[in-house]
Amino acid sequence: MQVNIPLKQTIDNSYTITIDQLPQIDLDTKVAVVTNPNVAGLHLSYLLSKINAKELYIITVPDGEEYKNQQSIDTILESLFNHRFNRKSMLIAFGGGVIGDMVGYAASIYQRGIDFIQIPTTLLSQVDASVGGKTGMNNKYGKNLVGAFHQPKAVYIDPYFLSTLHSREFGAGVAEIVKMAVTFNKEFFEFLEEADLKDSQVLREVIKKAVETKAAVVAQDEKEHGLRAALNYGHTFGHVIENETKYKTYLHGEAVAIGMVMANKLACELGLMSEYEAQCISNVLKKYALPTSYTIANTQSFYEAFFLDKKSSDANITFILPNSIGDVKMLDDIPKESVIKVLEQFGGNA
Ligand code: NAD
Repeated sequence: MQVNIPLKQTIDNSYTITIDQLPQIDLDTKVAVVTNPNVAGLHLSYLLSKINAKELYIITVPDGEEYKNQQSIDTILESLFNHRFNRKSMLIAFGGGVIGDMVGYAASIYQRGIDFIQIPTTLLSQVDASVGGKTGMNNKYGKNLVGAFHQPKAVYIDPYFLSTLHSREFGAGVAEIVKMAVTFNKEFFEFLEEADLKDSQVLREVIKKAVETKAAVVAQDEKEHGLRAALNYGHTFGHVIENETKYKTYLHGEAVAIGMVMANKLACELGLMSEYEAQCISNVLKKYALPTSYTIANTQSFYEAFFLDKKSSDANITFILPNSIGDVKMLDDIPKESVIKVLEQFGGNA
């Protein structure tokens, strides 16, 4: 005997991303703003002056990637239960990508899913993490290994928040912007070569172009079955660098910057991208004070560490390599010798 469950309905998850001064947000429901003490100290009073809600609660979780875990999720959920949030209630993520990922995930599981709004406050979260509904929690097995796809109801990007951001955190966001331009949009890359991000109008334009680029990719491949994975350009190498340096030396975006330089070298080695274009990308990264060099102590162990990355299948490593600026390829059949040859150019001695 068989029973069929027809579930072919189309769900419309569309939402709007507003890049502007934070508007007045009126919500006829219970709302919890989830943030950390750092962001709360800097910007919470401004945010609260913009929100009207039936009931409003603030939930704070400790600041830092090391708290992006199940324990913090439990803290958020407990507070929601204690305040009797129901399926019509709303969460607001107010902070960087760590807060955004946690709130998106908590919203995806609380009573099997409630709505949430993203108000990202770092450049990285404004151009990348808040767009696309991907969430990831860390555990003892690694980073971002538990999560869900849960799209926000709206995203409000106010560049004003970036005025208090540390310059290295700002640079880490720029690295992800460069990644998006190199991956999908040559014109955008050329714009970045000339852009002065200290100019607030230019910064706003750059945020808009980055969000448009990511939004277009997400619209085509929401759950990362293909195209969206191209946004991992620079990450395969970057994750190994983060691992080798125990997440202490580089911010994620900084490791991705070095990772892009390594990916470019491999692309050149394979006859894909020209040396000239690789140099143009390095120049843009340097322009924004991002690191572009790294000394690999042992090429063999660096190579083996690729296999610990969850984005690699058991047998093959998928490399995302530029064919040219604005056009990347995903390759999972690159001979080990070619990769090792490139790693050796970074000072390897294995
Ligand atoms: P973060 O959230 O840790 O923020 C970095 C630091 O900046 C924190 O100390 C934070 O308190 C502080 N901060 C935030 N806003 C500030 C402001 N306006 N002024 C001063 N300080 C401020 O880090 P991040 O770089 O924003 O995000 C990284 C996280 O995002 C990682 O966990 C990563 O996995 C995740 N991520 C997710 C996606 C996705 O698609 N879901 C994409 C990229 C990254």
